[in-house]
Amino acid sequence: MQSEPFQQLLDKAQRFLHNHIIPIEPLLLSHQWLELDKVLADLRQQVNNEKMWAPHLPTSLGGLGLQVAQLGQISKVLGQSPLGHYCFGCQAPDAGNAELLHLYATKQIKQQFLEPLAAGTIRSCFAMTEPHMSGSNPTRLTCQAIANEDGWLINGHKWFTTAADGADFTIVMAVTDTSAAKHQQASMLIVPMTTKGVTLKRNISVMGSTGQGYFSHGEVLFENVQVGSENLLGKQGHGFLMAQQRLGPGRIQHCMRWIGIAQRCFDILCKHVKHRQITDTQSLADQPLMQAKIAECYAAIKSTEYLVQATADRIDKDGFDSAKHDISMIKFHTAQMLQTVMDHTVQALGALGVTDDTVVAFFFREERAARIYDGPDEVHKLSLAKQLLKNY
Ligand SMILES: Cc1cc2nc3c(=O)[nH]c(=O)nc-3n(C[C@H](O)[C@H](O)[C@H](O)COP(=O)(O)OP(=O)(O)OC[C@H]3O[C@@H](n4cnc5c(N)ncnc54)[C@H](O)[C@@H]3O)c2cc1C
Repeated sequence: MQSEPFQQLLDKAQRFLHNHIIPIEPLLLSHQWLELDKVLADLRQQVNNEKMWAPHLPTSLGGLGLQVAQLGQISKVLGQSPLGHYCFGCQAPDAGNAELLHLYATKQIKQQFLEPLAAGTIRSCFAMTEPHMSGSNPTRLTCQAIANEDGWLINGHKWFTTAADGADFTIVMAVTDTSAAKHQQASMLIVPMTTKGVTLKRNISVMGSTGQGYFSHGEVLFENVQVGSENLLGKQGHGFLMAQQRLGPGRIQHCMRWIGIAQRCFDILCKHVKHRQITDTQSLADQPLMQAKIAECYAAIKSTEYLVQATADRIDKDGFDSAKHDISMIKFHTAQMLQTVMDHTVQALGALGVTDDTVVAFFFREERAARIYDGPDEVHKLSLAKQLLKNY
């Protein structure tokens, strides 16, 4: 049961999404980046004016100070559009980066980077994955930061740095001590993208689109990049520990966002089959095979949502550590559910499903990666299975 003010916020966010955000999706689907940027800037201002900005941030940073489960509910609403989170200032990777800066940055770094990031006047990115090393086991990073008299000298090659194009700074994961234990070798450093030696080599073409600005994934070179000692976030060697903290609550947001996407696809599917006549007297919705798919999709979405909500409630009640294994479970389970529902939707729409006349194909292309980023399915399954087997 939601509290009344929170339910009002959810309803208001839902109305905003339907009245203002969904109508501008054609700009995204037709790659009109410049026009899209302008419209998004206006919508972000409106969200701010209507006191819905940055639901993930504490009130001290101008956010709504929501609990993890509440944030999940908002994420589900916003997930129904690929533009939802961005309009509300709670998009990845900025949301996770803001949390890292909030917890670990010095006062000066907070003023310089966190305050404008929280206000939405700058963007950021997160550079951990490397093209020539398995991202599934990030303890084998080659990017290095070597301490010198001016701070840290960074050399490395990263890719899939989401939203690097136009970002003001990145948080880089780099090895700072090769002699330490595997999980204590890496640290996080904040690097302004204009620092000498940082090059955005390209926006990577993903499933046929290179995207632009926030909607892109960059390949980034760090060649003799010098930053000050204050650019180290948290303690040296704590990179993996901090990455876990960054991803933990973030996984609830991702899962609920995916549930929002699945729900949107499901709505599009149901509306379409009801109106698609296949004989003079029958629509697709009258077909038992289609009805079975609809029931299966509904059960998949709802059961996953209950699972994710229960995990979020547990985090709010007992803390992140108590729900670690449930978080692994919901990550691969929700990503798989999403893929199944998106696939059924494309199939039910026929040729229309693979066009950009609806948002379904965009979701289908972009969110195939849900089973890969933030840890591929296999990594989460291994981690869960190992824990479960300890009980036997
Ligand atoms: C759209 C998108 C956005 C991303 N954004 C960012 C970002 O902003 N910043 C960033 O640093 N990174 C980002 N990434 C990178 C992402 O985190 C990595 O792709 C992910 O960690 C997997 O690493 P990899 O691609 O090197 O795959 P690999 O590690 O090479 O693994 C390949 C495949 O092997 C399988 N596999 C892995 N381990 C096992 C195992 N133990 N047993 C069996 N099978 C296994 C999995 O199916 C996996 O997909 C993004 C990726 C995508 C696709």
